[in-house]
Amino acid sequence: MWRDSKILQPLARELLAWINARLKRALPGYCAFCRVAVADGLPWCVDCYVEMPWNHSACRLCAEPLPAATLGSLASLRCGRCLRRPPAQSAARVPLRYEGRMIRLIQRYKFSADARAGEVLIQLMLASLAQGAGLGDALIGVPGHQERTREQGFDHTAWLTRRLAANWKLPVISAERLRETPSQRGLDRISRRRNVRRAFLLAEPLPATVMIVDDVMTTGATLESLAIACRKAGAEHVTAVAFARTPSTRI
Ligand SMILES: [Zn+2]
Ligand SMILES: [Zn+2]
Repeated sequence: MWRDSKILQPLARELLAWINARLKRALPGYCAFCRVAVADGLPWCVDCYVEMPWNHSACRLCAEPLPAATLGSLASLRCGRCLRRPPAQSAARVPLRYEGRMIRLIQRYKFSADARAGEVLIQLMLASLAQGAGLGDALIGVPGHQERTREQGFDHTAWLTRRLAANWKLPVISAERLRETPSQRGLDRISRRRNVRRAFLLAEPLPATVMIVDDVMTTGATLESLAIACRKAGAEHVTAVAFARTPSTRI
């Protein structure tokens, strides 16, 4: 039996230690950024929360971070690019900038499938998009690449979309990827847009107001391509949602 086996006992202890270590990493109890103990159940301390690279002064249409000097009325803030050519989405809500500790956190989530990093990102998003449920009647995630999902072990955008939808009690509608597009990494803005043009399809009619979801919004080309597909499927108001926005100086 399990209890009597001299071989299995150390194995069972090892397994238990491994499970405990995984749980400790996955559950809150200390700040994910500076490791200080936190008592209120949140995965960050107050100091680290305040110091996050928040994307408050950003274009309302594409979430491009804007210098604080351009701040007029926050609600009507537009970047020069969106003033010249409004994007297909009606709004963008991206609470953080892809900088510093956000880059490390997102990379831990995307490339190491770190459950705690994913949990911290979700909690940050829910905390900063308190009225998220009011932004649409359904969520549509950017469909993953089959090959890249297989390599990374999971579809991180699908996971994010499902978690947000569950919290906001909204349905998820699947978009189809019509073709496997090459990686956007290293491409400039125009090449990125060309790369994802007509890449997505919504097979069913959509409600009038929807949210589209990606993890990081770099130039916004992928989300805009999905927004165009949503409009073709009947959506009149499309809000793009992501964890973090890359400042254009980094592209
Ligand atoms: Zn901290
Ligand atoms: Zn803009």
